[in-house]
Amino acid sequence: MSPKNTEPLSEIILKGVGVSPGVAVGEVVLFAHDKGASTVVDRSVSEEQIPLEIARFDEALIATHRQISEIQRKVASMLGEEHAGIFDAHLLVVDDRYFIEEVVRELREKKKNVESIISQVAGRYIEMLSKLEDDYLRERAADVRDVTRRIIENLAGEAVDRMDKIAQPCIVVATDFSPSDTAGIDRAMVHAFATDQGSATSHTAIMARALEVPAVVGLHDLTGQVRPGETVLVDGTRGVVIIRPTSERLLIYAQRAEEHKTILCELETLKDKPPETTDGYYVPIAANVGLPSDVERIGKYGAKVVGLFRTEFLFLEEDRLPDEEEQMQVYAQVADQCAPDNVVIRTLDMGGDKFSSALRIAPELNPFLGWRAIRFCLAHPDFFKIQLRAILRAGAGRNISMMYPMVSCLGEVLEANIILGECRRELQEEAIPFAENLRVGVMIEIPSAAITADLIAPHVDFFSIGTNDLIQYTLAVDRVNENVAYLYTPTHAAILKLISQVVRAGHAQHIPVSVCGEMAASPELVPLLIGLGVDELSISPPSVPMVKDVIRNLSYSDCRMLAKEALRSTSSAEILAQCRELLAKSSPEILELIS
Ligand code: PEP
Ligand code: MG
Repeated sequence: MSPKNTEPLSEIILKGVGVSPGVAVGEVVLFAHDKGASTVVDRSVSEEQIPLEIARFDEALIATHRQISEIQRKVASMLGEEHAGIFDAHLLVVDDRYFIEEVVRELREKKKNVESIISQVAGRYIEMLSKLEDDYLRERAADVRDVTRRIIENLAGEAVDRMDKIAQPCIVVATDFSPSDTAGIDRAMVHAFATDQGSATSHTAIMARALEVPAVVGLHDLTGQVRPGETVLVDGTRGVVIIRPTSERLLIYAQRAEEHKTILCELETLKDKPPETTDGYYVPIAANVGLPSDVERIGKYGAKVVGLFRTEFLFLEEDRLPDEEEQMQVYAQVADQCAPDNVVIRTLDMGGDKFSSALRIAPELNPFLGWRAIRFCLAHPDFFKIQLRAILRAGAGRNISMMYPMVSCLGEVLEANIILGECRRELQEEAIPFAENLRVGVMIEIPSAAITADLIAPHVDFFSIGTNDLIQYTLAVDRVNENVAYLYTPTHAAILKLISQVVRAGHAQHIPVSVCGEMAASPELVPLLIGLGVDELSISPPSVPMVKDVIRNLSYSDCRMLAKEALRSTSSAEILAQCRELLAKSSPEILELIS
């Protein structure tokens, strides 16, 4: 077996996408959804990481040997020595010098993570043994398979597989999280999280912001570079993760944290001030809410209205769907908490990176383009009606609006409204009170809907532009794929033209147009959206103070000018530079904070 690397490892700085602001330092807890399944991910490792991988291999072999010996002892005492003898073959595999040397040699040659090398080497052994004539030797293939599984499980080692098992303050590191994983996070224990995959608009990132946990995603190979218990620093504001930070680095960050705190305290004083530009133009800021518990916190940040209430969280349980009464109670409670201000409830937007096991949607090749959201609801009117009835009932005597997500054409809106009409009639017949004049809007997040916004506008009460998806679909860039994140450009001329077109179509029919995608929370892009004529911004609650500060230092005429120039520009980089220039002039400290 190779000697362990005892050299102290140096600091590593990784750049990812900061999706939830703030800084945290702590010990790593590795998270793996299903470590028992031992799914082997193939990833490259650098020359410097090779000793680390060999050390992991050594430790996994020692742990595996110990576990097998323990099982052997137990079996011997319960069933007798002859039964325990079968584990001798397992111990032979784990101690096999040729197997170990082959793994180490291939690791050095191929520069891949040890899990993938082990499964390749073991795979060859298994194939070779299974082809042998001799029964005894052929059966040894099962031993190799069993031992390999155990070694790979031990490599996942200290990874936890459920958030609620985390009992000490830490930084959670994972390949990725599902929305339900992040919903189970205990904020007192999880000080930050960092993932290999994901992007700014993945559902996971949205949940992180709602939970106010600093987070960086899209770090490619973080899980391969850290080990449980190591110290990492997560800077969610700048999108940086530092493994084993030096004491100088920690000092710099402590100073930055102080400055950050001062700015945040100053921003807090804006809570009751209006989001109004220096020349008196009012831009309402609403909150995006993903969990009912978030509603309690929106006031703290100076938001009152809920511009997007995501309802997917209600459908995350594995084995049951919420009934009408249950949904109605949740919607009514949220509306009561926000009263007299409005809450916009979005009908179910399941699919893409938001999935529900209870809905039993079969896996699709292109889930983002598939049978999701309004498409799924229209295909299951009885299921859809449960939610529509719940919203209508909650709206009785309360200030509630509703919007449909993922609309691609007017036909879908008309069809959804027919089902809504049926719900109204049924409730009337049943003499159950409901919102007779419920305002119904549409999310504009598919290019076809944006282009035909003039056809849709006469049939709805408002538009809400979902830029997270609009950018994804217009630019053909998967919003959760970190490899194409560089193409995800909100300032692309196509996006600006579409937003401008939707605003014009909405205003021509005298209906308001808001933006509820993450673009609206970006301080540098806020002036652009205002200049494009957007009437309201709906953003995650913690972003409200900063965006309000940006608005209060802007002049509306500068925003109009910026948008006019941007619509003429051919380069997204140039537009972004112009946006930054304006922010540097109006709110230099905010630009400094986010750069
Ligand atoms: C959007 O697409 O911009 C949006 C707000 O919806 P979601 O992020 O939930 O898809
Ligand atoms: Mg969307």
